[in-house]
Amino acid sequence: MAKQEIEYRAPATNWQTRGFWEGCGRGELVLQRCGDCGTVQHKPRGICASCLSSALEHFVACGRGRVYTYTVTHQNNMPGFRDACPYVLAYVDLEEGPRLMTQVAGCEPDAVEIGMAVKADFVDTGDGLGVPRFVPA
Ligand SMILES: [Zn+2]
Repeated sequence: MAKQEIEYRAPATNWQTRGFWEGCGRGELVLQRCGDCGTVQHKPRGICASCLSSALEHFVACGRGRVYTYTVTHQNNMPGFRDACPYVLAYVDLEEGPRLMTQVAGCEPDAVEIGMAVKADFVDTGDGLGVPRFVPA
């Protein structure tokens, strides 16, 4: 059987994360910047994780980053993932600072390297939401 893409389901959202998932649905990687200390953070929160300020703004990140580390998943029996093995799960350091856990797609798993330049890519999950993953830049 030919390898398939991971079948992402619509993410569970709440008031803190909905803006991020809606951004992914538009093909935009949305991060938060603190208006008081300037920290850029991900995951989305109601307050700044550095100074506890609630003066957060959302902005569209450039979508570029580099692979910090990764692993190749050869076995995952979860529906939606089973037929996509082997796939790459990685931490990507975004140019704006935050580190994001994500999938690296668009190339063979053995082509992925630490430090590799990647760019955001999005899977539409319906209802205006999406899930980010990364592909070689
Ligand atoms: Zn802050």
